Amino acid sequence: MDEVQREEVEAEVLQVIGMVLFPVRCFTCGAVIGDKWEEFVKRVSSGEDPGRVLDELGVKRYCCRRMFISHINLIDEMVLYGRKV
Ligand SMILES: [Zn+2]
Repeated sequence: MDEVQREEVEAEVLQVIGMVLFPVRCFTCGAVIGDKWEEFVKRVSSGEDPGRVLDELGVKRYCCRRMFISHINLIDEMVLYGRKV
């Protein structure tokens, strides 16, 4: 694999990682939301209502709320299929 191919593969990998990780900022308004993801997942998986958790975390705008509700975390599945770059 030459240097150009290697850079293309690295760029592709970074793009894929960007889609499978929870974004740091809301795509629409730019508010920082990445710091609230872990607590959201922890509380919702322990049985709390997602809407109430978002209210308590201070996520009020619906553009930001959809980031949490619609995100599917794929990074844990992706790492199983890693290839040497
Ligand atoms: Zn937003």
